[in-house]
Amino acid sequence: MLQLTEIIDPWNAAEQNTIITGNCELSQLPRLSGMVIEPTGNVQCKVRFFQENYRHCITVQIWGTVHVACQRCLGLIETSLKTEVLLALVANYAAMDTLPNIYEPLIVMDRKIKVLNIVEDEILLALPDFPVHEIDKDCVIINN
Ligand SMILES: [Zn+2]
Repeated sequence: MLQLTEIIDPWNAAEQNTIITGNCELSQLPRLSGMVIEPTGNVQCKVRFFQENYRHCITVQIWGTVHVACQRCLGLIETSLKTEVLLALVANYAAMDTLPNIYEPLIVMDRKIKVLNIVEDEILLALPDFPVHEIDKDCVIINN
């Protein structure tokens, strides 16, 4: 079975209806480390490659719990993450222009991607830009 850390040819994967599922440790994702206080908890993901309308597509589903830093008190916020995106593979920037807007373009120039990188991108997009405690009294700074 394919792993999230594997580097694959996504065009081939779409032609073979490949599905990759896995448990993604947040500590494996270096770009998250600035935002996530404790790389505890992990997220589940399901990445499905398929073809539709003569396009090579991927759906990425991610769900789980992550801990981010409150931007007001730097305390911990446990936030649940749930996202699903539909991507279409494009080989160059020109091909992006013809893509219907139901698809997010994923540029793959050399027929190789690391599946985990796509997952990391989507987690970063799904996280709040400016996380703060929703209830003021949870903020350590306000309590003191
Ligand atoms: Zn706070």
